[in-house]
Formats: sequence, C-alpha cells, structure tokens
Amino acid sequence: MLNLTNLVKKADTIAIAGHVRPDGDCVGSCLGLYNYLTREFGGKQVDVYLESVPEAFSFLKNTDKVCTEAKQGTVYDLFISLDCGSVDRLGFTEALFHAAGMNVNIDHHISNTLFAKCNHVEGKASSTCEVLYGLFDEEKIDKSVAECLYLGIVHDTGVFKHSNTSRRTMEVAGCLLEKGISSSKIIDDSFYRKTYLQNQILGRCLLESILLLEGKIIFSFVSQKVMQLYGAVPADLDGIIDQMRVTEGVEVAVLVREEGVQCHKVSMRSNGKVDVSRICCMFGGGGHKMAAGCTMNGSVHDVMNNLSAHISHQLSAYKAE
Ligand code: 5GP
Ligand code: MN
Repeated sequence: MLNLTNLVKKADTIAIAGHVRPDGDCVGSCLGLYNYLTREFGGKQVDVYLESVPEAFSFLKNTDKVCTEAKQGTVYDLFISLDCGSVDRLGFTEALFHAAGMNVNIDHHISNTLFAKCNHVEGKASSTCEVLYGLFDEEKIDKSVAECLYLGIVHDTGVFKHSNTSRRTMEVAGCLLEKGISSSKIIDDSFYRKTYLQNQILGRCLLESILLLEGKIIFSFVSQKVMQLYGAVPADLDGIIDQMRVTEGVEVAVLVREEGVQCHKVSMRSNGKVDVSRICCMFGGGGHKMAAGCTMNGSVHDVMNNLSAHISHQLSAYKAE
C-alpha cells in the first residue's frame, strides 16, 4: 500500500491537483489533502491546483488558497494527482506533473491508465475521498479535512444512493461524522441547493430530452448558444443527468454539451445493464461502469447515432447472456 506520509516527508515542495471541470470528489479530495498536509507538515511548501472551485463548495476551508494558474518554472519534489483517470485529465497542471521529481496518482476510476511513477488506484472505492481516508492517519483528520472528504463521498455516491456505496463507504462516512461536521448542511448546501439559473437549465434539458431505443436511452443536448444565453458554466449542469437516469424504463442517460465546432462533451449514466465506461474508453474518455464521460467530434447527430449503436449492442449482448 502507498505510504503517503513517507513520500511527503522526503519532499520539500508538493503540488496537489485534480481534473479539469472539478466536481465534488475532485475539490473535496484536493482540499482535504491540502488541509491535512498543511496542518501536519507545517514547514513544507504545499500548493493546491484546480481550474476553478464551484461556488457551492466555497465553504470548505482554504478554497481561497487554490491556484488556478500553474506557477511557471516551478519544479516540485512531489506532485500528487487526485481523481484523474488519465494524465490528460490534469489539464493545465500536466506539465508540472511531468516535471516533478516524483509523481503519484491516487484515484478510484477502473479505467485509470496508471500514468504515474507511483499509482494507488482502488477501483471499488466510491470516491477518491474514500481512498484518501484510508491513506490518512485517522487521528490526524480534523473537522476541516472531514468536511472535504465527506463532501466528496456525498457527491460521487449521489448522497449514498449510487451502487458504488459500500459498507466501507458508510463506515468511512460514519467516522467523518464523528469529527463534528454537519452532514445535513453539507448535503443541502453543496448537493441539493440549485440556483434559479441551474433549475432553469435542468428544466430545459428535461423538456427537450428525447427517448431512443424504445425508451431505453434518454438523450439531451445543450448547445453553446444555450450556455451563453443563461450565462452558464459546465458545473451548472451537475445533477441534470442524474434526474434523466431515474426516468422509468431508461437503461442509459446521455447528456451532450457542445464545447466547440463539431466538438461535444458527453456524460453517460447507466442503470446497470450497460457498461458506459467501456463505451467512453473507445472515444478516449473513461470513468466507471455506471458513470463515465468522453469528448467526441462530429455533429450532435453523429454523436447520438454513434453512442446509441454501442448502447444497443451492449443491451442485445446482455439479453443474449
Ligand atoms: P461526468 O459525466 O460527471 O462528467 O463524469 C462521470 C465520470 O466519468 C467521472 O468519474 C469522471 O471523472 C469521468 N469522466 C468524465 N469525462 C471524462 C473524460 O473525458 N475522460 C476520462 N478519463 N474520464 C472522464
Ligand atoms: Mn471521483
């Protein structure tokens, strides 16, 4: 097992970074590790990098310390990548990762490409936050670290509802509760509360969604024009696909966001019969069996046709089993 403390002890300068378009598990794990290390190893230079921190997570301690641009020319002794299934997911910090004396990859995606010198990937863990909990010294987890880890677990399990929620997940969450955090406040403030704008886009996506393959696929699309109209950022779409997924009769939900000319960001969720990570991996993306994503070129119709063919193929094979 990875001995995080030993690696940290050997380093004077440490960078922590997560993936592009950071979600709850990504922000929770990065800040959780940052808060843990800065408290335990006072003398070291620790920098935490994230593209941005969604407003709903801004109550976490030290969100104001997050660097949104790479410190040019800095070569870290140790670089820790969190919640990234592949190295390109690091985005603007990828160069810092390669330049660092030592790099570590801590993650829970089954599609993880084991891209670091030292890889610690637990494919069965609900979240990177759950993995980190196991690497920390339990006694040294304070309230601020517990809040970060709890938030990450809540987000990646859809509030303990997705099939990645195990006995271990519940046990870890229980231990975090004992650190004095307010569970209901974290869940309400960071997960359920939506701005008026977010609710409007949710409504629009549901209204414009279509059913394919006799109702087994639900598909919706958000154009750049719509994003601009609402002044929305990608994080404003969080949760929409989860609402699509619980539509009766649906096996797979697909939400496509236009990112550029003939370039689409795809999010997929499965209800069990289809392995969406397998499909996303074919298009250079990745994720988990029940939740995955990728970026695809071509028109939105190409994307829809391509994905529905793969989903249909897996569903037929499932029936045949
Ligand atoms: P989401 O649909 O919420 O963006 O992502 C679902 C899951 O798939 C997350 O675990 C996320 O990390 C992973 N994922 C999403 N997009 C990509 C991608 O382009 N590449 C890889 N490797 N994983 C992705
Ligand atoms: Mn995650």
